[in-house]
Parts: sequence; structure tokens; C-alpha cells
Amino acid sequence: MGKGGRRMGAGRPAHKLKAENASALDVAYLSRSGHLDTGNWKRLYWRQYGEVRLEGLVKAFDDHITVDIGFHTHWIGVTQTPCHFGGHRRWFICPRCDRRMGLLYMRHGRFACRRCNRISYESQSGDAEDRMIWKYHSLQHKMANLKLQLPRSRERIHNNFLEVAWQYDAMLDEALSRIMMADATRC
Ligand SMILES: [Zn+2]
Repeated sequence: MGKGGRRMGAGRPAHKLKAENASALDVAYLSRSGHLDTGNWKRLYWRQYGEVRLEGLVKAFDDHITVDIGFHTHWIGVTQTPCHFGGHRRWFICPRCDRRMGLLYMRHGRFACRRCNRISYESQSGDAEDRMIWKYHSLQHKMANLKLQLPRSRERIHNNFLEVAWQYDAMLDEALSRIMMADATRC
């Protein structure tokens, strides 16, 4: 199998989680509520439809926080940058890619940024992104079907499909990284 096939199998889950449905850590909220002030231990609740869905204990240290959820402790770096108009802005450091992030999302039991966790926004830039994801998945579907019935002589067609899917893959990554950069420059 070519590089496209390997990458698609390994990199991208079948369904992207929507940001609205994920348990998130919002640095702005935690900063306002005192969760990030060194020495503080504060509970944090994630609610859905008015019910507490998940509960954690946030302990703040100088350059990181820990979040205890159940028996698991999540270690998350915290840093800050100066703002143009005075003061500073705090950031989480994504445990997977080490980038500064305002939001981290829980997926598969771990916190990471939207890009690392493959999470999409429903409300923001959703249309273009969703269209790309839809096309990407429909191509994957076509390829899977094609492969089942593929005589050797048709392999070239299959490879063309792979090539197009590969291009969509790159476009999707680029779009997600633009959204991420827009988040990162907001002060
Ligand atoms: Zn990340």
C-alpha cells in the first residue's frame, strides 16, 4: 500500500469529535476563576444539559497544573505572553505538540489541543471544514469499495483516488492549522 493508504489508516479517526461535545479546559475561564493561581486546589465540573458529566480537581503550580479525574492525574504546562495593551495572557502547552493553546480537549482519556485530538468546530468555520471532511470520507468510502472489487488492471484508478484523497488530507490539515493560528493570535 502507498503512503496515502498508510497515512489515512493511521492518522485520522472515522469521525471527528465536535468541540461542543468535548470536555474542554479553557485557559481564560480557569484564569478568571482562580484555578491557575499557584497553590490553589479547586474543583472543576463539566456539565451537559444541566447535569454534571465529569468532575476534576485542578491543582495549580508555578508553571503547570495537574487535573485529577478519577484515578488519573493529567499534567499540563502553563505559560504566559505579554499582551499589546498591558497585562499578560496565559496559555496551556499542549501535552502532545508543545504548542501554546487557549483550549485543550479531552479525547481518549487525554487532554490535547484541537489539532492533536482531531476536533472540529460546529459553529466556527464549520461549513468549509465539514465539506472537506465529508469529501474526504466519501473518497475513503469509494476507495474501500473499489479495492474490494479491484482487478489488477484497475490499480491505476485506485491510485488516482488515493492521490486526490491525499490532496484533501493536506488541505484539511492546512485549514485546521489556519484556525489554530487564529486562536493563538487572539489576545
Ligand atoms: Zn497539540
